[in-house]
Amino acid sequence: MTKSRALREARQTLRRLRDLHPDAHCELEHDGPFQLLVATVLSAQSTDVAVNAVTPALFRRFGTPERLARADQPTLETLIGRLGMFRQKAKNLIGMAKALCAEHAGTVPASLDALVALPGVGRKTANVVLGVAFGAAEGVVVDTHVQRLSQRLGWTKQTTPEKIEADLMKAFPRESWDILSHTLIFHGRRVCTARSPACSGCGVSDVCPSAFRAEGVGRKPPRARSTSA
Ligand code: SF4
Repeated sequence: MTKSRALREARQTLRRLRDLHPDAHCELEHDGPFQLLVATVLSAQSTDVAVNAVTPALFRRFGTPERLARADQPTLETLIGRLGMFRQKAKNLIGMAKALCAEHAGTVPASLDALVALPGVGRKTANVVLGVAFGAAEGVVVDTHVQRLSQRLGWTKQTTPEKIEADLMKAFPRESWDILSHTLIFHGRRVCTARSPACSGCGVSDVCPSAFRAEGVGRKPPRARSTSA
């Protein structure tokens, strides 16, 4: 298959997936860019469900950069203690809030460079915030679902998030980068799960190169699986 035909087919498959999941969206509950930034930092190595269980109490108490910057770390640790790496996350959140207050007048900056300069904020977190809160993704968010689905659908042969992101950025136009991630995450959670992909009920099985043989494709090695959400 030529490269241009493969690209056309990938974009057509994304359109079909979007039709299958028209409600695909970020499932981290939040109100505004700051809460989204906090929730996304908390989501590392944790599920969105687990994060959504702790954020209401967290935001009631520390729902602004100013209040979070003054938070006492042990109190914050108690509030997020059911999440993985909660001590490191609590430290990062306080540092991040202090930097927002000191360098950005308590507002969340809308650029990748400024976001990744904040404590605890990596490229993936920054792109979630840019895409969801500002509609201006500067990359594709590659989480475990996007990684697995991209490999199963034959959109990449790469195995690291950075290289997969580069392939997806080349294959899809910038305006679809944000919805691409949400759509793959929705499909990955509801249909093409890591352990039991439901190929017989999948709406793109006719074009998926991994259909009915996907169990071994795009899964992390057992050791990595045991340490990730
Ligand atoms: S056909 Fe199977 S492997 Fe391919 S996207 Fe659908 S569920 Fe996943």
